[in-house]
Amino acid sequence: MSELNTQLRELRERFDAAVAAAQDAQALDAARVAFLGRSGEVTLLRRGIGQLPAAERPSAGKEINAAVELMEAALQDAEAALQSREFEAELGMRIDVTFPAPPAALGAIHPLRRVTEDICRYFQRHGFAVVLGPEIEPEYYNFDALNIPADHPAREGFDSFFLTGNLLLRPHTSPMQIRTMQQHRPPVAVVVPGRCYRRDAVDARHHFQFHQIEGLLVDRGVHFGHLKGMLTGMCRELFGRDQQVRFRPSFFPFTEPSAEVDTTCPLCRASGSPCRMCGGSGWIELGGSGMVHPNVLRNMDYDPAEYSGWAFGFGVERMALVRYDIDDIRRFYENDPAFLKQLA
Ligand SMILES: [Zn+2]
Repeated sequence: MSELNTQLRELRERFDAAVAAAQDAQALDAARVAFLGRSGEVTLLRRGIGQLPAAERPSAGKEINAAVELMEAALQDAEAALQSREFEAELGMRIDVTFPAPPAALGAIHPLRRVTEDICRYFQRHGFAVVLGPEIEPEYYNFDALNIPADHPAREGFDSFFLTGNLLLRPHTSPMQIRTMQQHRPPVAVVVPGRCYRRDAVDARHHFQFHQIEGLLVDRGVHFGHLKGMLTGMCRELFGRDQQVRFRPSFFPFTEPSAEVDTTCPLCRASGSPCRMCGGSGWIELGGSGMVHPNVLRNMDYDPAEYSGWAFGFGVERMALVRYDIDDIRRFYENDPAFLKQLA
């Protein structure tokens, strides 16, 4: 019994020394085989149990098992220590803090957002607030309150995506005119940027999802001249100082009088030469505008005898196409980094 103890202690000492001396996984494995392997020293010791008196055999077996458990644990610890040493050595070799870093790839603001922000900034400078609204709206905000009753043919022209009930994806940002006027008494001066949706087939000039920016001013004594002045200023800020703006009579149910707004083609400068941007006309159409229809004001409990206002709604994509001389609206949604980088 005491002889086995001595043997075990002596074996453990040699085992610990071998493990401590192991510098790599191979040396560690050699120690495992030499001591715990099938014909290792512990196995030999176990065989000796058979020669002990029967009464001593169980306790001898237990002692050896306990020793084996400790040895296996020591091997595992040594293995883990070795691995983390190797990992640290690898790190130390790879990280050279003096090595020049690769240039960071900087992102840029998307052209649609840039145009939107520039327009918002222009109007904010003139005292307008920027407001955002829901993209899903009831028919009331999209049509009824905007003087487009249920049987009005203009509703068809909006090619809307209807959802359940009387909800639809807004085909224009105009619902926010109504929400703003419901919440505030005049004067109101807001611009509304946002996504809109229509059932348009996708091509170079159309998309089922597009961005609009809407403007609304209501106060005492507001007239068409204010509208012309503000929109001319906006075009000059976006496209250049000598931009001209043209108003063509048009019809919208929510404005009276109504006008389409064109600006001089920044590509050919209306020189009369053939131009792929404007088709040689010298003008680019931006969107609709007009004086807020008295019915819309009445719907909001604004007295049309006291208050007047103007509104406009322009397509952001259209303005970005013109500003950056791009021929296909789909380019804005493809998330092609090369394209976006070019415009940065
Ligand atoms: Zn042109």
